[in-house]
Amino acid sequence: MTRIIGITGGIGSGKSTLSDRFRAHGIPVIDADAIARTALTPASDCFADATALFGPDALRPDGTADRAYIAAQVFADPKKREALNGIIHPYVLSEMLRRSKACTEPLAVWDVPLLFESGFDAFCACTVAVLCKEEIRIARVTERDGADEQNTRARIKAQITDEERERLASYTIRNEGSLEAFLFEADALIERIRKELE
Ligand code: ATP
Repeated sequence: MTRIIGITGGIGSGKSTLSDRFRAHGIPVIDADAIARTALTPASDCFADATALFGPDALRPDGTADRAYIAAQVFADPKKREALNGIIHPYVLSEMLRRSKACTEPLAVWDVPLLFESGFDAFCACTVAVLCKEEIRIARVTERDGADEQNTRARIKAQITDEERERLASYTIRNEGSLEAFLFEADALIERIRKELE
């Protein structure tokens, strides 16, 4: 059975960069955010339940979801946001488990921003937290997406802190220096995890 390595970290800490490194080492990556983005597409198992929360106006004439309408509803009403998350999170988990079961490799990575908050860590053989100071993370996300700084800070506040991640994770890796230094440490960590799990 494939053993799961859960990767987490704050916004802009370097989760995707680390996951890409695992992929380069031949370890497949299952990306929770990418699956969550498919939740509101008609082919997803949770499409009918998720759109039903918002009534008929949430559907376009062609049967696809009106994402702008749903986003506005969720923004205005935290209860609706919770209800939508209550449908999307189980969908993401079941899809991640399905893909993991179909996996033929000994190891696979789960890239999950809210790994500990969501309880998905319970399915992992080990967990890795990417740690990085908030100011550096904000600068990276601002440069990458042109993101609004206040908005990024608010999203960071909704997550657990690096101290908590450090306490909960099996392994930690810091990403506050150059990309080269991070990748060098990532390679050593991947080898270590391989030895311990395979
Ligand atoms: P998010 O939470 O937004 O999904 P993430 O944790 O997956 O982000 P990445 O996308 O890996 O983080 O990194 C954020 C940005 O910072 C990317 O543009 C990435 O190329 C860049 N980056 C990552 N590590 C470094 C580094 N050590 N030095 C410079 N830039 C970096």
